[in-house]
Amino acid sequence: MTTPVYENFINGHFLKNQTGDTFAVKNPATDEVIYHVEIADEFIQNAAIESAKQGFAAWSAMTPIERSRILLKAVAILRERNDELAKVEVLDTGKPWQEAECVDVETGADVIEYFAGLAPAQVGQQQMVGNDFYYTRKEPLGVCAGIGAWNYPLQIACWKSGPALAAGNAVIFKPSEETPLGAIKLAEIFIEAGVPAGVFNVVQGAAEVGQWLTANPNIEKVSFTGEVGTGKKVMASAAGSLKDVTMELGGKSPLLVFDDADVSQAVSAAMLGNFYTQGEICTNCTRIYVHKNVYQQFIDELKTRTEQNIIAGDPMDPEVNLGALISKKHQELVLGYIDKGIQEGATLLTGGKALSPASAPNGYFVEPTVFVDCKDDMTIVKEEIFGPVMSVLVFDDEDDVIQRANDTHLGLAAGVFTKDIQRAHRVIHQLQAGICWINSYGNSPAEMPVGGYKQSGIGRENGIETLDHYTQTKSIYVGMSNIESPF
Ligand code: NAD
Repeated sequence: MTTPVYENFINGHFLKNQTGDTFAVKNPATDEVIYHVEIADEFIQNAAIESAKQGFAAWSAMTPIERSRILLKAVAILRERNDELAKVEVLDTGKPWQEAECVDVETGADVIEYFAGLAPAQVGQQQMVGNDFYYTRKEPLGVCAGIGAWNYPLQIACWKSGPALAAGNAVIFKPSEETPLGAIKLAEIFIEAGVPAGVFNVVQGAAEVGQWLTANPNIEKVSFTGEVGTGKKVMASAAGSLKDVTMELGGKSPLLVFDDADVSQAVSAAMLGNFYTQGEICTNCTRIYVHKNVYQQFIDELKTRTEQNIIAGDPMDPEVNLGALISKKHQELVLGYIDKGIQEGATLLTGGKALSPASAPNGYFVEPTVFVDCKDDMTIVKEEIFGPVMSVLVFDDEDDVIQRANDTHLGLAAGVFTKDIQRAHRVIHQLQAGICWINSYGNSPAEMPVGGYKQSGIGRENGIETLDHYTQTKSIYVGMSNIESPF
């Protein structure tokens, strides 16, 4: 059986490359190639730049209300096609249908809807200075690049294009080479909704295509989602033409469970924050610090619920709540971290092995894994694993656990479980992280800005402030009296 071959999406349609080079995409749950994608060669790259420049001219000339109306049509189409798009995400990523069906498309559509609503509300300032005055305009940046990770492909494409397009920019988006289809579907939906050709282009490929985007002088901004190490390369390359950057990078986030917490709720949060999307979520609370008074109760309930309630298997089965990891290579990486945890003396509470469920025997599954008796200097406690591997640590003193939680170069997210309202805020204010939750974990509504402290990122996505990251301020001074000149 031949599999489809997808071309790059430029200037409102698919465009064939000249080299004929392609790459294969596998379904992580079956290890089978499901389609091929053409790599963006020089011909495609040049076409993408030309297309985006023309798209920008047409799009930025529209009023924000016109842009908003068109983007809202795209939102409606995304919602109508929820199930078709969710299936694309399940086949590309290996994540469970029960998640994709209600989260991936929905949270992407929400963000485009949010920014479509805000677009006409963006205003400049004006101020009198004597008899003269100045005013400011919020102008779009021009052509922006988006580079995505593979864990939430369509959602990431929506989170980057939503504010960029609402502000009047054109976008060249490069999805991860592991999950290229969702962005193509979004490009088709934008065209169907009436977004002019060239406003949203999709180029395909791996690091080299990303490097071309970050170095290209015609691109004004790069919004990147991926690993810290890649983010540093992207930023260094973007510096060559002094591009604006947004960096949504990795994390190793702490969750602090105090002895007055609702322990069952804290276990729910810990499981969500480690096993949802089979652990492939940047904000995951992979370091769980539990107060010594509730430690035993916490790990007993955690073990029982992990062993009884997790169903791995064919991700399209609506009962399945643990999917396959993105690739064989990533599965091996995660299993390598588990071995390291054992070698370094952590106690395996549950899990620890690869899984081969009957309904998806060739998939890249890893058992939900919990380590207890962890120490702060263990590799599994220090490094992002990006798989279903939780490390549980014990603490006894508030100040001490805050210091331990902050002892990392990362600062994406953090959480606190306690019934003491003063402690909740006191502690969360001291945690060095950009996205924090109290008695909750993982929710990320369109209205809430998200992004990292320290090496977890620069800039924010979502929330009002993100629109500012896609505009530049033009100040215009207006003289109302004769110029006084010594010349
Ligand atoms: P990655 O860094 O390997 O790749 C991300 C993207 O960058 C891909 O599209 C890849 O092709 C591209 N790329 C690779 N090298 C490049 C280069 N030199 N120049 C330009 N582009 C290049 O990350 P990944 O493995 O796809 O995703 C997992 C990582 O993403 C994890 O670290 C996770 O924490 C992070 N992540 C962060 C967020 C967030 O919002 N903070 C969200 C999702 C994922």
